[in-house]
Amino acid sequence: MCLLDGQTYFPYVACEPSIVHVQSDNPGSYGMKLNKCIRCGQCMSVCPVYQTTFHETDVARGKLALLEAVERGALKSSARLKEILSRCLLCGACADICASQVQTTRLIQQGRHSIFESVSVAPPGRLLIKSIRAGNLPGKAVLKGGALLQALLCRKIPETSGLHLRFPLSFFTDRATIPGVAWTPFTKAFHREEKKGNEKLRIGFFVGCGANYLFTEAAWALVRILRLAGHTVIVPEDQVCCGLPAYVAGDTETARDLARKNIEVFDSQKLDVIVTVCASCGSHLMKLGTLFEDDPAFHDRADRLAARHMDATAFLVEKLHFDEHLKNYYSSAERSAPPPVRVVYHDPCHLRIGQGVTEPPRKLLEATPGVKLLEAPHPGRCCGHGGDFNLTHFDLSMKILERRMKDFQAVEPNAIVTGCTGCLLQFTEGVSRHGLEEKIKVCHPLVLLESAIAADSSP
Ligand code: SF4
Ligand code: SF4
Repeated sequence: MCLLDGQTYFPYVACEPSIVHVQSDNPGSYGMKLNKCIRCGQCMSVCPVYQTTFHETDVARGKLALLEAVERGALKSSARLKEILSRCLLCGACADICASQVQTTRLIQQGRHSIFESVSVAPPGRLLIKSIRAGNLPGKAVLKGGALLQALLCRKIPETSGLHLRFPLSFFTDRATIPGVAWTPFTKAFHREEKKGNEKLRIGFFVGCGANYLFTEAAWALVRILRLAGHTVIVPEDQVCCGLPAYVAGDTETARDLARKNIEVFDSQKLDVIVTVCASCGSHLMKLGTLFEDDPAFHDRADRLAARHMDATAFLVEKLHFDEHLKNYYSSAERSAPPPVRVVYHDPCHLRIGQGVTEPPRKLLEATPGVKLLEAPHPGRCCGHGGDFNLTHFDLSMKILERRMKDFQAVEPNAIVTGCTGCLLQFTEGVSRHGLEEKIKVCHPLVLLESAIAADSSP
């Protein structure tokens, strides 16, 4: 049985632990060279894709075995190999648990890059997916198309509809909800308010596509909170997509182009810190330097940008101690005033693993008046969104989401709260599929926090 069949049975012949050099001449690589996989299978216990399909090719161990076969010339790049490598959320759970410290996600991404140009993708939806990967979701054709679709497809399209042929992407046609696209992006609507006199910090805001076009309320919540605390918020209007969708697809050149643009834009501002409200953007910004291993000038500039970046919740708690201020301001009776909103917090993989941030959002929620923070079973479980995985493997993504929805339903929340716009998109869909839109709100933690502060009538 061939490994490429994607069957549960894995005909891997016992072998010595290997050191594999994967395409070291790859110009767009993240510079990852070594694979020290000992085939222990520990990654199987955490991989959301493998735990849904139980196919060996869906877990890191199987993918690394294939990359090794390519490396030694036993296997050629093919559409099937490309498909196998695409069946990964790049969530990092395997790298996080691997006792041999195999940098699985970097190897898988490097494999994607290696075959990105050599193997074409299936035609349906290709241009739209390419456009989204290139950071054009925000703009022009896709934005207008998305808004038009939103207006047209406010309910699920019947199977018989000709629109299935015009818009074959399962992302649109199989969804229970079409994401709302803002006609005026946040970066266009934002106006800088310069502090006069006693300015505290100058805070750069990297907005990201999700918060700019889909979840603008998260962006506004951050701005209002920071202004309330007396800081100046700077939102460069010519910032572009962080490049993560292009990167995860193996389109490293596009990812680099976008990174260069963002580095130029933020370098031109005098800033004390750069914050994000989307965990996916934030984790990608933090490793921009690895995109420029062959370009020392940009490598240093990328590292400097990464060093100035913080997730907004981490910044509020670790630098501004906003949770302490809230606790001092509101009595514990006010914080638990009945009836409290039962809130369950979901750890985005790109925040928990990608940035090591788990406590700050919980601390903010615990300090938010009217919020009762709950913990769902299996904290740290992936939601199944993963870069453009939700676009390219929609059905599988929904199966992974369903497991997480069951975790949440066990604690009967009034709100599912998370700090990644990809996860927000996913849970909005999950709540809609369960017909729970009236019962469960899906939002960023800062939205709950800011609305609680805004509702406060005390001086
Ligand atoms: S946990 Fe690490 S060493 Fe073990 S099979 Fe997975 S990638 Fe290989
Ligand atoms: S990154 Fe996540 S989805 Fe991909 S192989 Fe590792 S655990 Fe599985």
